[in-house]
Amino acid sequence: ADPVLEVRGLCVDYGVGANAVRAVTDATLTLHRGEVLGLAGESGSGKSTLAYALTRLLRAPGVISGGEVLFHNRPQGSDEVTYAETVDLLAADIAKLRQIRWSQLAVVFQSAMHALNPVARIDAQLTDVLKAHRKQMDAAARRERAIELLRMVGISADRLRSYPHELSGGMRQRVMIAMALALEPQIVIMDEPTTALDVVTQREILEELMQLRERLGFAIIFITHDLSLLIELADSIAIMYAGRIVERAGANELFHTPRHPYSLGLLNSFPALHGDKVRMEGIPGSPPSLTALPGGCAFHPRCPYAMDRCRTDVPGLTVPSAEQRGAAVLAGDRTSEPRVAACWLQ
Ligand code: ATP
Ligand code: MG
Repeated sequence: ADPVLEVRGLCVDYGVGANAVRAVTDATLTLHRGEVLGLAGESGSGKSTLAYALTRLLRAPGVISGGEVLFHNRPQGSDEVTYAETVDLLAADIAKLRQIRWSQLAVVFQSAMHALNPVARIDAQLTDVLKAHRKQMDAAARRERAIELLRMVGISADRLRSYPHELSGGMRQRVMIAMALALEPQIVIMDEPTTALDVVTQREILEELMQLRERLGFAIIFITHDLSLLIELADSIAIMYAGRIVERAGANELFHTPRHPYSLGLLNSFPALHGDKVRMEGIPGSPPSLTALPGGCAFHPRCPYAMDRCRTDVPGLTVPSAEQRGAAVLAGDRTSEPRVAACWLQ
């Protein structure tokens, strides 16, 4: 195990004082070098908030109210940092964050479509990134690298002179990925645009990203509603519900032996598009409002396996032993009728 990022007890609120609502509660995650970690959960579960917080890109009224995000920086070929170090991103000063963001920890956000400069050609946007961070490169080397980066994401060199509006949504997304990879980061966080791209394009892009990972060795945090995509492509998966990570497991393990009834519900449902919101069909009811979270496990009002205990306590998230997993009734064959939730065995 060689962690590149460790998130511990991260809490994020929107607003302060009496008006504050907690959007992320006690999130704990480990991302290993080269690992693909999928983050799934219904709309509003806090996936983007978590990603913005851990990169310190969260904007007001968002406030990080607790936790640690340890980045084990092992840079290669960077101008700015040439030694290994561990940085708590939540405590780091702005200068340190600037060194790390983009060059070591790159983000392709949900609003990627709007993140490209509409009045600059693609080549200029790519070479600007290189100009800012790779001072040893001359203009010819930057141009060559820009072409190489675009080729990596499946865009031919004749597109270099295009403006963003001349490209399709999928191509713009690819350009964003090329920009994110320009400085050979150790981590790429991708918050999937849910409606902007069709399912086939999404899959293609994630598959390409996975191939690039094979070659370049970066780790990926991929945020999506499409759990089936993660089951297929991710190494491990974290499931979020009402601001909490309710289950973390290997992709295979989650698919065959889900422990939390919410994970089971997600596996048995499929995302359906309703306007710009995505709702999971198959789990009755809808997620609670953050201003009126149910006590205990926030999922209990929707949970077919809720017990008394679930109304007052929140199940923990330690990894179960083999015997415990054997005892978990949701585990085993998920097509057969489970009798009791396995979340308390975690
Ligand atoms: P989606 O799948 O739709 O992208 P998400 O899982 O990324 O959803 P977030 O966008 O992180 O969810 O939102 C988590 C919660 O925080 C939601 O209840 C949302 O209403 C709330 N929230 C997000 N941004 C703000 C804001 N600027 N002010 C107040 N509340 C916010
Ligand atoms: Mg989001």
